Amino acid sequence: MLLEKTMVNELKELLSTQGMTEVGFAAVTPPEEYAALTHAVSLVLPLSDAVIDTIKTAPTHTYFHHYRTVNAYLDRLALSVGLFLQNRGYRYVCVPASQSINGFSGLFSHKEAAVSAGLGVIGRNALFLSEKYGPRVCLATILTDADLSLGFKALSKKDPCANCQACVRACPAMAISGKSYKEGSNDIIDRSACSEHMKRAYQKIGRGVVCGLCMSVCPAGRK
Ligand code: SF4
Ligand code: SF4
Repeated sequence: MLLEKTMVNELKELLSTQGMTEVGFAAVTPPEEYAALTHAVSLVLPLSDAVIDTIKTAPTHTYFHHYRTVNAYLDRLALSVGLFLQNRGYRYVCVPASQSINGFSGLFSHKEAAVSAGLGVIGRNALFLSEKYGPRVCLATILTDADLSLGFKALSKKDPCANCQACVRACPAMAISGKSYKEGSNDIIDRSACSEHMKRAYQKIGRGVVCGLCMSVCPAGRK
């Protein structure tokens, strides 16, 4: 028990020396090939407000660069967590940091891990809304067989979307239905409409894989 408590604290310290303060721990159902790795470390890294505030009617080259840099950094941080765990005799796999703005598919859902870790909720825009930073974040996840239950905390009870539809109005692809995540987790967003719009409209800005409008207009977590 003491060993696990120490490990959770040491992990937090390791990450805080690298600028990462939003860290959570959760029990998860892993993909079949990693069935023994039933605990997750969730990392939530804030994006630059100065950069996000420049997204008014379209993404910017600076945002695309920032997005890629943050994701590359998250991959590095995730690896440092994995090595920390492996050095203590545990197994791990780092889920690759998202490489597209709505990061829908992948080895494991970063959003699921972050919500389960009590770090935030899913918004009407289908993005993870951090309790502290709203949607202005990127996520990483490390799955492991280490027992991290001493780091668990309760699910977030916040509902930033309660009286808001800002992202619904702002979406140029009309891809956001306006339903809350609870009302319809599978159809709150038309993923094809979002992706096709980005490819068509922003091919010359970020190769058509970023947009950011439904993030920049969101009041959640804004300073
Ligand atoms: S803009 Fe409003 S409705 Fe959309 S995700 Fe943010 S808080 Fe929720
Ligand atoms: S097109 Fe842009 S604003 Fe609409 S859902 Fe996709 S990322 Fe959000």
